Amino acid sequence: MGRFFALLLLPLLLFGGTVKHFKWKDGESFLTFLERKKLPLRVYYNLDKEDQKLTEDIPYSANCQMVVDNKNFIHQILIPVNDELQLQIYLTPKRRYETKVIPIVSEEYTETLYVPIQTIPYDDILKTTGSKNLASIFVKMFKGKVDFRKGLKKGDPIIMVYTQKYRLGKPFSMPEVHGAMVEINGKRVRVYRHSDGRFYDEKGGQYEKFLFKLPMRNPRITSRFTKSRYHPVLHRYRAHLGVDFGARPGTPILSTGEGRVSFAGYSTGYGKTIKIRHDNGLVSLYAHQKAFRKGIHSGMKVKQGEMIGYVGNTGLSSGPHLHFGMYRGSTAIDPLGVMKKKTEGFSGKERRTFIAIRDKMDRKFRKALQEKPIRKPYFDFHETYYVDSQTFKPKPF
Ligand SMILES: [Zn+2]
Repeated sequence: MGRFFALLLLPLLLFGGTVKHFKWKDGESFLTFLERKKLPLRVYYNLDKEDQKLTEDIPYSANCQMVVDNKNFIHQILIPVNDELQLQIYLTPKRRYETKVIPIVSEEYTETLYVPIQTIPYDDILKTTGSKNLASIFVKMFKGKVDFRKGLKKGDPIIMVYTQKYRLGKPFSMPEVHGAMVEINGKRVRVYRHSDGRFYDEKGGQYEKFLFKLPMRNPRITSRFTKSRYHPVLHRYRAHLGVDFGARPGTPILSTGEGRVSFAGYSTGYGKTIKIRHDNGLVSLYAHQKAFRKGIHSGMKVKQGEMIGYVGNTGLSSGPHLHFGMYRGSTAIDPLGVMKKKTEGFSGKERRTFIAIRDKMDRKFRKALQEKPIRKPYFDFHETYYVDSQTFKPKPF
């Protein structure tokens, strides 16, 4: 098959292929997208159940690419579902469109960002890096700890150490921030990301409060969250963007936290589904329900632990269970990662791990304060536009 793609490339090079970047529209379904692009709908219907479900988790404003020839004929479309898997629609040698879930081959760079304050941290970080994600993570990290409206002076340093993934030469997915520091009136306020993915101060005290609870009494987990897994029997790449709880039909489903119902309706993949938006911006999802609790509607407030519906088997489901999802923006995250933590503070081995992380960050902060590095873009990535269906690697223009 790989050879066929090499052959396919040839006409593109001869007649010129163009890569068009576009963002996945908020609220657009895979089917309406196909209709809009005048692509055959069997591209969707030929997918198996699990892959069809995956199309419902395409994050809005996902950075997608489309390769067209000089007659505007589509040769390939790449749609990232998360930072590990993407949907590839491609033209076969028989000039039929097929879709496949393939891994994303990405590159990672870890950078220390040094920014002297000019206006406010959010704007300064955005201006220097062009990344809204980085700017909002910074603000979130210091929320409740530093009041950026007072005390900040021009020239006070901000430092962030983070890893950013790049796909086809462009940043994608949330940057992973390992640590950040801001100096106010000579006082250095520092925040570190521990191996559990959460942020702590230098003493290991926690900033963020996670108050979510499991959505069921006596929960029994049957499938965990995974961004990408190779299925050795099916020879496919799979993602499971939530946690499954096995339960009898009719078992009550409970809201994981206080919030407002943002969706209560039906979707092809997830069946009868409720989404709840919580105060910290996260959205929880409860799929495959048999029925909603009477009176549940979009816009209403719910309390933590409040019953919202009943376990069922609606949508693309192979047996009664609750599929429980958690989203930051429109990106799926592991719901179990934000559940209420039982222990507070570190001890023993965990404490040693934290101290190692902290000390490593502190060295990076000190180095940045000394060197005051000026940020320069990593590379002039030439436009890559074609992803080989077998090697999953992008090919240069
Ligand atoms: Zn599931």
